[in-house]
Amino acid sequence: MSVVEPLDVVIAGGGVAAIEAALALRDLAGERVALKLIAPNAEFSYRPMTVREPFAYAQADSYSLTQVASDVGAELIVEEFGWVEAGERVAYTAAGVAVAYDALLLAVGARIKEAFAHVLTIDDRRMDELLHGVVQDVEEGYVKRIAFVAPARLAWPLPLYELALMTAARAYDMGVEVKLMLVTAEPAPLAVFGPQASAAVEGLLAEAGVETITSTHAQVDAVGEVRLQPGNRTVGADRIVALPELFGPAVRGLPAGEHGFIPVDEHCRVRGVERVWAAGDAIDFAVKHGGIASQQADAAAEAIAALAGAPITPAPFEPEIRGILLTGRKPRYLTARLSGSMSFSSQVTDEPTWTPVSKISARYLAPYLESRATPAG
Ligand SMILES: Cc1cc2nc3c(=O)[nH]c(=O)nc-3n(C[C@H](O)[C@H](O)[C@H](O)COP(=O)(O)OP(=O)(O)OC[C@H]3O[C@@H](n4cnc5c(N)ncnc54)[C@H](O)[C@@H]3O)c2cc1C
Repeated sequence: MSVVEPLDVVIAGGGVAAIEAALALRDLAGERVALKLIAPNAEFSYRPMTVREPFAYAQADSYSLTQVASDVGAELIVEEFGWVEAGERVAYTAAGVAVAYDALLLAVGARIKEAFAHVLTIDDRRMDELLHGVVQDVEEGYVKRIAFVAPARLAWPLPLYELALMTAARAYDMGVEVKLMLVTAEPAPLAVFGPQASAAVEGLLAEAGVETITSTHAQVDAVGEVRLQPGNRTVGADRIVALPELFGPAVRGLPAGEHGFIPVDEHCRVRGVERVWAAGDAIDFAVKHGGIASQQADAAAEAIAALAGAPITPAPFEPEIRGILLTGRKPRYLTARLSGSMSFSSQVTDEPTWTPVSKISARYLAPYLESRATPAG
């Protein structure tokens, strides 16, 4: 009897796309693949829930990556991925350790950079530390005006809106008057979710008293001053909270698209490179969102599973964006089908339209996390 060697699959990253791909590969290809995960982080942290931390809710859940790797039957190499020699099919860690592969999936996320000086830039690794003081100042009536500002290239769609709405709800509950303003280059609030969802979010913002300025580029040249373009109008604010700008990882040995993001085809195969795939915030897809990262990871996993001999016809990546918008009141459930990065059908509902109901909608990751009894373990 001939024993078929498993396909050596190396996944770089320890976040949403990496874990989704590992779970998908194990399900689709079983023992046809041997999995290695290269990631520096000991824990997988559930980033979307960090927006609640400054409002004195519990810390977002995090999960031991060792446990995740063990559950999925992957070897975990606790190091940073460094570069790739695609011709030799060898990935290198940043420390120079060679890891041979038959298929490589890059899921290393995006790099965060401050878009403006003189502002509080959202960083989910320390959300409470960054923004707790702002919320406290609102509660105690020390601030009169807060600006929430998005850079021209929107990072993740939801958190800025959530922070503005949750701040408005907290101010109302405390009986405090504070002027809130949200500035974005988007043509409408959360435009990526399409006209219906956008109109509903516009209504929510208006109801909450958040002044929303769209199609506008913000500049922050001095402390407490937001300059709006076009118009060159300056607006004062006691606190300015901004999203960061995102950049791609610009991996040595691979093509890099605009701003360092990795160019891929519809199966998330890196363009012009054999046996290398990429998924998630690291790739050159305009919408950076956990649910989208998972769908890209699934597309890549299907292609790799087929390469490993699994009886599957890989489906291309067809983005459908799902989001739960936290508002400080009842959440809203948004969905949109995308063509490129434009939405062509969208809806907003008061009840979820997908299961399991989770902030990051993902075929494998969401049920896996739901099945985990104690996140910290
Ligand atoms: C505050 C906030 C709220 C959000 N809310 C939502 C939401 O409600 N719904 C939603 O769907 N999405 C949301 N998102 C977006 C979502 O979290 C991201 O789109 C998603 O995490 C991207 O997945 P990823 O795997 O590409 O990257 P990440 O999740 O960032 O994972 C990247 C991984 O790669 C690792 N890594 C980095 N460099 C290297 C290296 N050199 N070698 C090896 N590993 C490396 C990192 O340690 C990390 O484990 C939110 C994001 C933020 C910040």
